[in-house]
Amino acid sequence: MSPIAHEPEFQQAYEEVVNSLKDSTLFDKQPKYQKVLPIVSVPERIIQFRVTWENDKGAQEVATGYRVQYNSAKGPYKGGLRFHPTVNLSILKFLGFEQIFKNALTGQALGGGKGGLCVDLKGRSDNEIRRICYSFMRELSRHIGQDTDVPAGDIGVGGREVGFLFGAYKSYKNSWEGVLTGKGLNWGGSLIRPEATGYGLVYYTQAMIDFATKGKESFAGKRVAISGSGNVAQYAALKVIELGGTVVSLSDSKGSIIAQNGITAEQVEAITEAKVQFKTLEQIIGEYSAFSNNKIKYLAGARPWVHVGEVDVALPCATQNEVSGDEAKALVAAGVKFVAEGSNMGCTAEAAHIFEGERLSAKSASEPAVWYAPGKASNMGGVAVSGLEMAQNSQRMSWSREQVDQELKKIMVNCFNDCLSTAREYTNEDNAEALPSLIKGANLVGFIRVADAMFDQGDVW
Ligand code: NDP
Repeated sequence: MSPIAHEPEFQQAYEEVVNSLKDSTLFDKQPKYQKVLPIVSVPERIIQFRVTWENDKGAQEVATGYRVQYNSAKGPYKGGLRFHPTVNLSILKFLGFEQIFKNALTGQALGGGKGGLCVDLKGRSDNEIRRICYSFMRELSRHIGQDTDVPAGDIGVGGREVGFLFGAYKSYKNSWEGVLTGKGLNWGGSLIRPEATGYGLVYYTQAMIDFATKGKESFAGKRVAISGSGNVAQYAALKVIELGGTVVSLSDSKGSIIAQNGITAEQVEAITEAKVQFKTLEQIIGEYSAFSNNKIKYLAGARPWVHVGEVDVALPCATQNEVSGDEAKALVAAGVKFVAEGSNMGCTAEAAHIFEGERLSAKSASEPAVWYAPGKASNMGGVAVSGLEMAQNSQRMSWSREQVDQELKKIMVNCFNDCLSTAREYTNEDNAEALPSLIKGANLVGFIRVADAMFDQGDVW
């Protein structure tokens, strides 16, 4: 690994992959893979650029934009754009590095990349957001294209922003092409793309529940703690409710809502409407009629995990490192059995270690244990449907909602089965009865697929 400076998030993501590989029999069985590690850890290219615009008060503002084109062995660079005041190179390198292996897990021809802008969009008008997006794309458009690099949304970049970014690309390049995914439905977008990460997360978790309980249990009757209240959290919550689960929490950057009797679909829809206008959960529960008859507790400045009471499933869906070691212990004490990340690297290394320890301590697959799935596997439904959006754009076709949803389900279940069988193939764990490690499985599958492509193309020799 060659970190450029102090890059704690990137180092954490890198060490997670390295530890998974070293803590398996891969390098004993096939030593050639060891030499891929230092090479795959260095991005093929990093573009950093100045973005300036005029704000609504007539003053000039400036921010730093980035695109990390990490690895193109499997296909064009693919990965989202994050617009958030915490954006820096460590965060984007961690996200880009994860994205390489995540995209390989989809089974599609996609390389890995990530980008963004260090800016807070909250409180800015649609007009100012448009000027920011056009200014950002003025530089980015020189480096991307439908066969080169295809960005999408991430934190702070939803349908509105993707629309402005696409419009800017089209006007600068005089080319209408599928250069971004997450597009509007009447101009090249795919049905189910907005829902895909949240739905896919629930489909992956459903596969975990199904396997661990030998088909006896499902989401029905389960108490599910979710963090975040953006794109991923909203659709994860709606799918859990549809499958008969009880969503006991959601959160945002200012606090959490806890509803022991369950958050309703109508309430989630109110949140979806209000979040585009940058309202906080505290404002939303005060203003929207959907919340007037329901007992909701609001906790300012708190994440939900230690406040949710008894839970069966935890789905972190806000941001990285949002479950600490202490919070992981609290979730275990609250009875959690399944933890799957909607966010990228949602668990700290300590939290992941605690969940993995619980898994290993189970004497048999049917005994109480915690089973943990890392985001690069459980949240890859979004990029997988982005891949389907690219396929539809190439065909100049639109697939039906059912067709895309079925394909998404199939991709998530295949990914789960690949993680499971590969974790078993390369396991060095004594307890053969324990559930296999999905974190090792995901890292092994993704890494082997990318490494093989790099060998074939002469990136490593
Ligand atoms: P959104 O911007 O739609 O929502 C993000 C949510 O997380 C908001 O509720 C936001 O609160 C909250 N949040 C953001 N930063 C923090 C923070 N530092 N502390 C606490 N809460 C925070 O983003 P998405 O839903 O798209 O993304 C959520 C996660 O899922 C990210 O980790 C992203 O990388 C990952 N992901 C997203 C995919 C996608 O398709 N969108 C695909 C795969 C992964 P507030 O409303 O107050 O800003």
